[in-house]
Amino acid sequence: MRKIETSLAAATIEAPKTTAEGIGAEGVIRPAGSGRSKPTKDPYNPDFIRPLTFEEAYPKCTKEYIPVTHEGTGEVMSVPFRRIHLADTDPGCEHLDLYDTSGPQGVNPREGLPKLRKSWVGRREQKGDATPTQMWYAKQGIVTEEMAYVAAREGMDPQFVLSEVARGRAIIPSNKRHLELEPMIVGRNFKVKVNSNIGNSAVTSSIEEEVEKLQWSTLWGADTLMDLSTGKHIHQTREWIMRNAPIPVGTVPIYQALEKVDGIVENLTWEVFRETLIEQAEQGVDYFTIHAGVLLRYIPMTASRMTGIVSRGGSIHAKLCLLDHKENFAYEHWDDILDICAKYDISLSIGDGLRPGSIKDANDEAQFAELLTQGELTRRAWEKNVQVMNEGPGHVPLHKIPENMRNQLDWCSEAPFYTLGPLTTDVAPGYDHITSAIGAATIGSLGTALLCYVTPKEHLGLPNRDDVKAGLIAYRIAAHAADLAKQHPRAQEWDDALSKSRFEFRWEDQFNLAMDPITARAYHDETIDSDAGKNAHFCSMCGPKFCSMKITEDVRAYAREHGYGVDEKVFEVGMENMSKEFAKVGQVYTEETELANKLGKE
Ligand code: SF4
Repeated sequence: MRKIETSLAAATIEAPKTTAEGIGAEGVIRPAGSGRSKPTKDPYNPDFIRPLTFEEAYPKCTKEYIPVTHEGTGEVMSVPFRRIHLADTDPGCEHLDLYDTSGPQGVNPREGLPKLRKSWVGRREQKGDATPTQMWYAKQGIVTEEMAYVAAREGMDPQFVLSEVARGRAIIPSNKRHLELEPMIVGRNFKVKVNSNIGNSAVTSSIEEEVEKLQWSTLWGADTLMDLSTGKHIHQTREWIMRNAPIPVGTVPIYQALEKVDGIVENLTWEVFRETLIEQAEQGVDYFTIHAGVLLRYIPMTASRMTGIVSRGGSIHAKLCLLDHKENFAYEHWDDILDICAKYDISLSIGDGLRPGSIKDANDEAQFAELLTQGELTRRAWEKNVQVMNEGPGHVPLHKIPENMRNQLDWCSEAPFYTLGPLTTDVAPGYDHITSAIGAATIGSLGTALLCYVTPKEHLGLPNRDDVKAGLIAYRIAAHAADLAKQHPRAQEWDDALSKSRFEFRWEDQFNLAMDPITARAYHDETIDSDAGKNAHFCSMCGPKFCSMKITEDVRAYAREHGYGVDEKVFEVGMENMSKEFAKVGQVYTEETELANKLGKE
């Protein structure tokens, strides 16, 4: 028998030791919290771990595709979504369709994902377009395949997508070398998106584990992914990630550039950095984080900070500036960087190297000085038709968040904002996915387009697969809460479907509609794990006598039977009757409750 256990952070599946053809020697899903996989023996022939499947993560769901015809070329594209099949018999309520990031399923990572964009990019290359960026096409009034694809995914008009991309208010990160990509859009007038960070370090992880984290990320709803590897086999790790990524992949190229000079900052030059940009561009990286706004004159502004410069990239550039007392080479060579990005259609994620690393440092002079420079760099990128987003903080208390959003919109001409959290307090290491999801929901509701997740391991260690899931679920909650607050079309459909299933005691539907169905079901099973319990009109929280939803159901039935028509009157009479019941019983948990729970378990 397969056993499924979950905790808030993780889903553990101890599956039978089945061999998944071509995938790893054992093809077994590692137990959650089991630590790390073994080091990679052969980076060209990794021993991949069998991922949790779509069907295991999302019971009663199917992956479906809408056929969309691209008007310019006549190509018919298949745009994915997830359909949740429900037991609701009300007309139009038989299923719910959701945005889906999980990518093609059942693919052997050694072979890589299908090359969805091959013909799209091939046609453009044949025409010899010198600046094949989505922004350039949008400015010409050309709806690309990518624009039509994201329009269908978002339920928007392709012309609206085009106008947002042309205006720089949205980006479609899509390197022409990343042919496996299912295009997506980042912009404040679209669904709020979530970024997952993975990557090894010099201390831990392997290629197998990083590819597993990628698959885990897309399964649990990551819209974009950053490979922040700094350890062994950087190039080969990224190659496996790119060939298996259905979502845009970003990097911080200065990390690999530093590895190339054995970690000696003094030896880092523009030439090494440029060579690294081209190497990663050829592999298909969709967006680069470059900390070009960390200017020499801003560095002294961090001297009096509580936590100085906390960005890895920011601190490398700052050290380089100070060593030679020279301006940041990424700023000096910005036009060269733009030329590389324009050639491949790599989006720039202008880094926030001087972001605050503590509540005390939030919204200080250094942070906002860099943001102003980000604005200048953004407009220069647009002149060369390069797509841009701006990275933002960091650690910011709730009352200081709106100023961040206002300044970014104003100074960076409404380019998409991409924020790390922000973490709204410093006092909860081990729970920073929560401290930051609070800030993420707040800044998302104000217009931030992409939320970079934070895991429970923030400030403590390299996240493992289970931390990735905990961070992603926290951030998907934040993003969805922001969509609701912004009244994004269709966002509330999901809530309404789940509330209806909850009120109608369709437990199976409630689990299957949950953002994390495995955990929702496991928590219910903890106290009522029988099939009968899945039809009960109560749960172990209040028990059968005091289930408020059951009482409301009874009140409504009572009203129907007694011919009441006015809701207020119905509730008044119903609650009066229930109040008499309560007085009679005198306590919330009765023997009857326990008995019912027990029955439910059998
Ligand atoms: S018993 Fe309480 S928690 Fe459980 S379904 Fe009823 S109202 Fe909700």
